[in-house]
Amino acid sequence: MAEGCSSTETGIRKIGAQLDASMREASRKITQAHPWETQILRWCLTDDSLRTQILRFIDCLPALKNPRQIVRHLKEYFPEENKRLPWPLRIGVRAASPSLLTGAAVAAVTRRTTLKISRLFLAGANLEEAFATIGRLEEQGFQVSVDLLGEATTSEAEAEAYTQRYLELLQRWNQHLPSHPHISLKLSSLAFPFDPVDPERCWRQVQPRLTKILQAAAAQKGFVNVDMEQYHLRDLILWLTQRILDEIFPEETEVGLVIQSYLKDSEQVLQKLLGWITSRGRPVTVRLVRGAYWDSEVILARQQQWPCPVYIEKSETDACFERLTDSLLENHSKVRAAIATHNLRSIARAIVKAQELKVPQDRWECQVLYGMGEAVQQAVQELGIPVRIYTPVGELLPGMAYLVRRILENTSHASFLAANLLEKS
Ligand SMILES: Cc1cc2nc3c(=O)[nH]c(=O)nc-3n(C[C@H](O)[C@H](O)[C@H](O)COP(=O)(O)OP(=O)(O)OC[C@H]3O[C@@H](n4cnc5c(N)ncnc54)[C@H](O)[C@@H]3O)c2cc1C
Repeated sequence: MAEGCSSTETGIRKIGAQLDASMREASRKITQAHPWETQILRWCLTDDSLRTQILRFIDCLPALKNPRQIVRHLKEYFPEENKRLPWPLRIGVRAASPSLLTGAAVAAVTRRTTLKISRLFLAGANLEEAFATIGRLEEQGFQVSVDLLGEATTSEAEAEAYTQRYLELLQRWNQHLPSHPHISLKLSSLAFPFDPVDPERCWRQVQPRLTKILQAAAAQKGFVNVDMEQYHLRDLILWLTQRILDEIFPEETEVGLVIQSYLKDSEQVLQKLLGWITSRGRPVTVRLVRGAYWDSEVILARQQQWPCPVYIEKSETDACFERLTDSLLENHSKVRAAIATHNLRSIARAIVKAQELKVPQDRWECQVLYGMGEAVQQAVQELGIPVRIYTPVGELLPGMAYLVRRILENTSHASFLAANLLEKS
């Protein structure tokens, strides 16, 4: 242990080492159970151009209608002449011919493998499958938050359908599960167009739909978390949620909001939020994340020549995550903290800080994403910390944006989980 370490730092390293040991064991079992899916993620990790090809192909796959189209796209996206193509992929592409039986077989294998990758990250294609998965997770002592996939709707009819799916989920929850409902939703799905240029129109569209969802959740002592999306929607999302709670639900309603530590102004935003929570006089849960849209935020800012809203160095996001963790835990009397990350250093720090500040265990929890944090969630649970798993549910097509974000994240060189994956290759 390095000399001159503060007792907090010593504690973080001790808990981090404990988490790391349990996580290694759990990851080994997961890799054995999903060898091909893990291999594809490793290819993405070791070759950036192959990663782009794989993501582009996965993105268009749900729209391909028959084996002939799949084979044609496979050959276009993965030309045999590409010497860097891993050999199993090259053999598959060579065997694939639109006119031969092998073409149909390769198309079927391609579709099945993509579905298997998506199943790593999605808890079910429909509510029946989701309830079965959640039941299993709850039996293992985990809690969940269900996210029905779909974001940035393209019509009012889609926004209405999305609302109805959440209402159905809430209505059926207690027929299948002993727990109270806990859902995560994206406001960009509740209105079309969801555009910060006209916040009042967004309010008129979102308010009736969100009111119905909040009422249905409250009737079952349920919890609604409003997820955070891209930077240009951030203020609109916070404004709409705070307004609906102030004007329509001043009474007890269990809600959560999200703060993203990759945003340079996230600390000011949290301070403002804490001021609002204090004036509201009722606890609100704040989920702390790093942020899921890093690549697109950087590209958009460059393209438009806007100041970049996110940190450019990963270490800055990490340091900000630690400062925000401290602020949330220090304010545990008015805010429940949900520390949502797979990064063991961040989790260890939250555990040590919560111990130092004597934060009661019902005032904070860890959260992980379904399929990304399996090894982490077991390691954290072994330390007696409550773990909630963010559980996306949906078909592959509406789930594609989510799936691509998760693959991007799992194969980004700055990612904690990617480093872990590579270490084992
Ligand atoms: C339960 C749960 C709920 C979530 N809900 C949301 C949500 O509502 N909204 C949302 O946006 N995200 C959400 N996320 C995703 C989250 O923001 C992260 O993308 C994801 O968890 C990976 O980060 P990490 O802390 O686990 O791990 P790490 O691997 O340590 O961090 C990866 C993250 O670091 C950041 N990063 C990467 N490179 C750089 C760089 N060069 N400079 C600065 N920062 C960089 C990015 O945010 C990247 O995702 C959620 C995550 C969880 C676990």
